[in-house]
Amino acid sequence: MKFATRLVHFDASPDDPYQPMATPIYQTATFEQDAADSFGRYDYSRSGNPTRRVLEDQVAALEGGSRGFAFASGMAAITAVARLLKTGDEILADWDLYGGTTRLFAKVLNRSGITVRYVDAADANVLDAAITPATRLIFVESPTNPLLRVLDLAAIAAVAKQHGILFCVDNSTMSPYLQNPLALGATIALHSATKFLCGHSDVTGGMVVVNDDALAQEIHFVQNAEGNALAPFDSFLLLRGLKTLKLRMDAQQSNAEKIAQFLAKHPKVNAVHYPGLASHPGYGVQTRQARGGGAVVGFTVGSQALAKQIAEQTKLFKIAVSFGSVTSTISIPYAMSHASVPVEDRAARGIPQDLLRLSIGAEDVDDLIEDLSSQLG
Ligand SMILES: *Cc1c(COP(=O)(O)O)cnc(C)c1O
Repeated sequence: MKFATRLVHFDASPDDPYQPMATPIYQTATFEQDAADSFGRYDYSRSGNPTRRVLEDQVAALEGGSRGFAFASGMAAITAVARLLKTGDEILADWDLYGGTTRLFAKVLNRSGITVRYVDAADANVLDAAITPATRLIFVESPTNPLLRVLDLAAIAAVAKQHGILFCVDNSTMSPYLQNPLALGATIALHSATKFLCGHSDVTGGMVVVNDDALAQEIHFVQNAEGNALAPFDSFLLLRGLKTLKLRMDAQQSNAEKIAQFLAKHPKVNAVHYPGLASHPGYGVQTRQARGGGAVVGFTVGSQALAKQIAEQTKLFKIAVSFGSVTSTISIPYAMSHASVPVEDRAARGIPQDLLRLSIGAEDVDDLIEDLSSQLG
C-alpha cells in the first residue's frame, strides 16, 4: 500500500470485539491479571498501554522500523536514546542542533560522565576522522534546525557502520512522509512528535523507532524503568493527527516552496535557507534522500531589529517556538528556540541574530505572502 493509504488503514484497535474505526483511549493505569504469577498482554501503563502501542506500531511501520516507542516529549525520546550510553562514552554530534538537545547534552548528560563533541557532519570524512574509541553514538538532524543544512545521511550511516556505533537521526523537520532515516542506514529514527506528526499544536510527544530487536528491548527497558512514556489521551490525539500527515504536508510544503521563492526574490531578504530551493547548497543531497524540502523556511533580513519587527507585526504568522502546525508561525531562533543553547556554544555556532524561521501552515498561500510582503515593505 502507498503511504496515504497506510496513514488511514491500519489496525486501529487490535483484539477489540467492536472493531472501532478510531483507537479507544485506554485511560487506565493498571490491568487485571488472570493469575497472581502471570501477566496478561498489559499489566501497567508505564510498561505498556494499548492506545500507546497502536501509535508506536503505526509510527514504526511508517518509518520502516520494527518497533517504535512513544515518549512524553521529543526531549524525553532523546533522553531515552542517551540512556543507551554509559559513563566514559562519547556522542559525536553535528553542530547545528535543536537548542534543547544541546542543553541536554551539555548540562545533563555531563552529570553521568557522558561527553559530547560537535563536528561538521556535512563532511563525512571530517566525521570519520573525529571518531575515537569512546564514540558510541552519532547524533544529527537533517535538515538541521535552525539553519536547514542538509547532511548526507547514507554517507554518515556508512561511517557509523564501519565503526560499529549507533547512528541516530532526529527526523522532526521531515516526518516519515518525506524522509526515512532507517532506510538510509541509520540505527535510530527519532521525532519530536510535537511537530509534524501531531500537526495541530495540541500535544507534546516524542518517538524513537528502531529496526533491531536487541536495541528495541533496551529502549523498552528504559521507557519502562524511567516512566516517561506518552499518556493514553496524548497517544490518541497523535493517532488522530497522524492520519492527515500527507494532506497537511503536501499543502504546507507546497506553500513553503512558494514562500521560499517569494523571499528569494525579495530585495530586503539577504539569504533564504530552504532545502527545496534549487539554489540551496544541499539541494542535490536533499533530492536524493528525501521527498521535498519540507515546510520550515529560514531567512535573514540584515538586522535583529528588523527581524524583531517582522516577527511582531505579521498577523497570520504567530510568534511561537516549535514548528509543524497547520497554523503558520514565525520565530527568531537566536532569541527563542535556541536561547537554551549555552552561550559559549552559541557564539561558535554562528546562528545569525537576524535569522527568522517560518513554519508554514495550511493557510491560503496568497494570504501568507501578503502578510510577509506587507511587513517586508
Ligand atoms: C522540538 C524539537 C525537539 C524537542 O522536542 P519536544 O517535543 O519539544 O521535547 C527535538 N528535536 C528537534 C529537531 C525539534 O525541533
